[in-house]
Amino acid sequence: MDRNEAKEKILALRAEVEEHSRRYYDKDAPTISDFEYDKLIHTLMALEDEFPEFRTPDSPTQKVGGHVGSKFSPVRHEVPLESLMDVFSYEELFAFGERVDGAVGGAKTFDVEPKIDGLSIAVEYRDGKFYRGATRGDGQTGEDVTENLRTIRSLPKELKNAPERIIVRGEVYMAKETFQELNARFEVEGKPLLANPRNGAAGSLRQKDPKIAAERKLDLIVYNIQLATREYKTHTETLDALAEMGFDVVPYKLYDNIRDCVEQIRWIGENRDQFKYEMDGAVIKVNDLAQRTLLGSTTKVPRWAVAYKYPPEEKQSRVTDIVVQVGRTGVLTPKAIVEPIRLAGTTVSNATLHNQDFID
Ligand code: NAD
Repeated sequence: MDRNEAKEKILALRAEVEEHSRRYYDKDAPTISDFEYDKLIHTLMALEDEFPEFRTPDSPTQKVGGHVGSKFSPVRHEVPLESLMDVFSYEELFAFGERVDGAVGGAKTFDVEPKIDGLSIAVEYRDGKFYRGATRGDGQTGEDVTENLRTIRSLPKELKNAPERIIVRGEVYMAKETFQELNARFEVEGKPLLANPRNGAAGSLRQKDPKIAAERKLDLIVYNIQLATREYKTHTETLDALAEMGFDVVPYKLYDNIRDCVEQIRWIGENRDQFKYEMDGAVIKVNDLAQRTLLGSTTKVPRWAVAYKYPPEEKQSRVTDIVVQVGRTGVLTPKAIVEPIRLAGTTVSNATLHNQDFID
């Protein structure tokens, strides 16, 4: 590919990504899957690596997606709420391990956690009391959603043995079971159904009326200390401390070798059904906090962690019938009726057959 072609391709990809970002963050109405979106970013990143002269600070590869609306007061994050670098294969994961080894000396341990598919937030406690909570926004500034967060039962309003001041990062999510229950109720009441648990959570946390968040029965799970007036040496030590303070904390497994992390990444992927929340990957993090500081961050992501993204869930079912619908203009669309199967948080009972790719 020559320079001109590359430039054109990069600009087109950027526009495409920005449009999907707007639909996802501002409207809570994405039109492509997250996996497809992540692949677009990945393609853009590879092209920018090859032609770095076209990589500018406003590229979606260089900044955290998401905006700050005017509905809520802005909250400046003292420690930015970063995104994560994606990897789609074990080779890419091992390359991350090599980069870490090249940048900092000494023994390394890595922890593996599920990547919860919810809404990223930061919650602050002063003298052990819940003080304020904000969305990620653009990573530097978020929206003050304190009143909505107060409706969450799993958000401790008071902490046990807390440092004087602490800011914790976590994910607000709608449990899969809650999603099912709410949709069953909405169906009876003739209300519009929630598309998926993530939309159910995102759509209510950014509503002005806290009653909506309360009705959605959201949950909070935490995975990082952003700032604390207490010293810690390792990440897993902070996770244990957060659990003792009263938070629901992400489960983790610790390894002293990047290659061994594969065991837990596989396990999480194969056991997605057992978790009460939706997940879209596993996060692999350097455990030593001093090493993390040395590794630092880019403008968008930390250099001490990556997200391993699982391919979209696939399951088999049996076709029990094929029905042909006749559209208003006389167009025929065949539809397969399948034995209902749970997939990606919903129950699938039919599939369109108007396109060879779908049929395959
Ligand atoms: P990301 O979601 O892939 O990774 C970063 C996020 O992971 C963090 O913000 C954090 O909130 C979360 N996370 C969950 N569990 C974590 C854990 N244990 N440790 C650390 N972080 C954890 O990257 P992103 O840049 O924030 O992208 C947002 C997501 O939105 C992506 O999944 C992307 O696919 C999706 N998206 C989709 C569309 C679309 O059109 N479908 C558009 C824009 C964004």
